Amino acid sequence: MKILLTGGAGYIGSHANKLLSSRGHETVVADNLGRGHREAVRWGRLAQVDLLDEATLDKLFEAEKFDAVMHFAALIFVGESVKHPGRYYRNNVQGSLNLLRAMRKYGVGRIIFSSTAAVYGTPETSPLPEDHTLGPINPYGWSKLMIEQTIRDFCSAYGMKAVIFRYFNAAGADPERETGEKHDPENHLIPLVLKAVRNPARSLKIFGSDYDTPDGTCVRDYIHVCDLAASHLLGVESLMEPGGEGTARVYNVGNGEGFSVREVIEATAKVTGKKPRVEQAPRRSGDAARLVASSEKLKRELGWRPEYPELVKIIEHAWAWEQTLPVD
Ligand code: UDP
Repeated sequence: MKILLTGGAGYIGSHANKLLSSRGHETVVADNLGRGHREAVRWGRLAQVDLLDEATLDKLFEAEKFDAVMHFAALIFVGESVKHPGRYYRNNVQGSLNLLRAMRKYGVGRIIFSSTAAVYGTPETSPLPEDHTLGPINPYGWSKLMIEQTIRDFCSAYGMKAVIFRYFNAAGADPERETGEKHDPENHLIPLVLKAVRNPARSLKIFGSDYDTPDGTCVRDYIHVCDLAASHLLGVESLMEPGGEGTARVYNVGNGEGFSVREVIEATAKVTGKKPRVEQAPRRSGDAARLVASSEKLKRELGWRPEYPELVKIIEHAWAWEQTLPVD
């Protein structure tokens, strides 16, 4: 298959690119390199394209005939989305609309979309099934939910086929250390804990200790980035099967187990043998207290099984990768 990966120079996209390439698929990465890294595109080809630039996007679709698109490209930080909502709606929603328009124009009918647990808002049950009420509590989650709906509507109107993955907290890195997490600035918990372990001048801020959780800190479901990548391979294979035109299937991708911020810090101390300096800080606006996935549907329908479900293994891989980066 020939697959377009928007955002393939980013964290999750680069892991999917490695996996797809290792299985013999031809990949083309479309990335504006705003937050992605040229050096992360170690497989397939890179086309420097901004999804907001329709003319360049059209040229790409004119030049290449894709069997499917994996749409990873997005701004992804909850806190930033609360401060700069316009940036999130423009980049995420308008960019996706442009991509869908180009797909339709050039007859590409299969898409896998990177959605998020943030579409659920405040959970009424845990773990969360896909049919739980939706109600994002931050612009990032809203932008992803709007794209989900747009994709559903494009599927019904134009006979496209989609798989929507709602990621929980992507973490870890390629065990061979060929790619890993490198956000600039970094906002995610595990890399920030690891950076604080390496650099004693840094400390880790715990955003909120008064949540309604066992130790008062937020609980998240950390999922190995390679297991996320594996779900994409299964997803695209399922889209190649006959039938299903006009439908968008939704799957959660998580391990079904929640860990608090404090538990992540403890597990990191176990892996690295060092404790970071921690500071209590106010809640970060837009954060839900607890987000834990039920991925039963993904297991049942696509036969997905996580290879690295243990938090310690996830942190070990993140730690091995972190040590390939300069101390900052
Ligand atoms: N978090 C924290 N300190 C940090 C970064 C994150 O306490 O420096 C918390 C954050 O409030 C959330 C959890 O760690 O409860 C995971 O946050 P992250 O940004 O990694 O992922 P998100 O859940 O926002 O996608």
